[in-house]
Amino acid sequence: MYFIFGRTAFCLAAMAVGALLGSLAGLWLPWLQGWGGWVGATLGVLLAGVRDGLRGHQVLEWLRSGNSTGAPRWRSAWGELAYRIERALLQRDKALAAEQQRLADFLSAIEASPNGVLLLDGKEQITWCNSVAAEHFGLDRQRDIGQRITNLVRLPAFVELLQMATQDEPVTLAYHPVELTLSVLVRHYGQGLRLVLSQDVTERLRAEAMRRDFVANVSHEIRTPLTVLTGFVETMSSLPLDDAARSRVLGLMTQQTRRMQSLVADLLTLAQLEGSPRPTADRWVSLADLLAQVEAEARGLSRERHALHFPALDEVEQILLAGSQGELQSAMTNLATNAVRYTPEGGRIDVVWQTRSGGEGVFEVRDTGVGIERQHLPRLTERFYRVDGSRSRETGGTGLGLSIVKHVVQRHSARLEIESEPGRGSVFRIVFPAARLRRTTRGAVAREV
Ligand code: ADP
Repeated sequence: MYFIFGRTAFCLAAMAVGALLGSLAGLWLPWLQGWGGWVGATLGVLLAGVRDGLRGHQVLEWLRSGNSTGAPRWRSAWGELAYRIERALLQRDKALAAEQQRLADFLSAIEASPNGVLLLDGKEQITWCNSVAAEHFGLDRQRDIGQRITNLVRLPAFVELLQMATQDEPVTLAYHPVELTLSVLVRHYGQGLRLVLSQDVTERLRAEAMRRDFVANVSHEIRTPLTVLTGFVETMSSLPLDDAARSRVLGLMTQQTRRMQSLVADLLTLAQLEGSPRPTADRWVSLADLLAQVEAEARGLSRERHALHFPALDEVEQILLAGSQGELQSAMTNLATNAVRYTPEGGRIDVVWQTRSGGEGVFEVRDTGVGIERQHLPRLTERFYRVDGSRSRETGGTGLGLSIVKHVVQRHSARLEIESEPGRGSVFRIVFPAARLRRTTRGAVAREV
């Protein structure tokens, strides 16, 4: 209304001014006498119309340009109209930008999700997916948007899943192209739209399988000596045994008990290694003390059946290793006693310490024993993995020694190297990083440790 009144008033004013000027002109110009007012009024209206037309054209041009700013500035109804349109456009732009930002934040939150998120339209075409989903299903986020998911992921179980009307529990799919096991959940929303959620459960399932195997192995390892013990107990209680037979049976029972004791001790060591924080690198242990203990244990086990060689104490006297005395002792002793257990009588075993030029420290156990076939080497540090089960058990092995060594080695930022040749012997090496080694005088060691 205001605009119409304003424009009408402007037109009337132009007409009045035109009529006044025309009448005045009629006083001077004889050919205008009587018509001056009419001519002036008509010209005034025409001029007002042309001016309005020009302003309207300018506003239209600005709107056509698509710019939200830069509206023409006039002190008139046209000016106000342009200003109000400009303000409305700016508000719309601001709301749009805020909306876009919200959408971008929302998408980046989904992007940051550790799970895969895939959106499908009514025709099973991909409308959006985060990078985890792209990785899970082997999709290319640029190329595959708009493609039918069933053309790209042809796994029958997945296709079947998409066809289901409702799904309450996630389904586990072994997705072979990328060696994954995925837990997938499909949810329907909107009008025929679908949300596909995927989670990589490969590691979890592997860990669960390992745990199941571990429990089965432990039960088996404990059941065997228990069965033997039960048998002996029954024999002793039902049969009258003479002294020689009784002492033989008691000896065998002791052997089985010891086997269970070592197994429980190794299990506890493993549990402790897995459940405690890594040993700090600021506790220093004397290498000479460690080696002396290793030597005592190896010689005790060998009972002079092997030729054992250890470094002379003065060679290693000044060396300190950073870490846990108990753990290092257990790892080194395990390697040395394994060498004794897997080397036939008369064989040679060398325990060597070497400080490399780069500063790394190497603890090495070499034997001339039975050796290990190449294909077993990568699995040796798995719990209960044995190359020769009967030999391991005969010599009091639990199958856990090398997995304890592996844990200790990792906890000390060191690495375990194994070289072996069947029939010729093996080399087990723990390589400590330079940062874990220090030299000092023997007196200082005593004070620090
Ligand atoms: P175990 O208690 O059975 O010795 P370990 O974890 O210490 O268990 O070793 C795993 C397997 O590795 C052993 O069963 C054995 O077959 C093999 N092994 C370990 N050390 C040696 C070695 N020095 N020589 C030959 N085989 C070895």
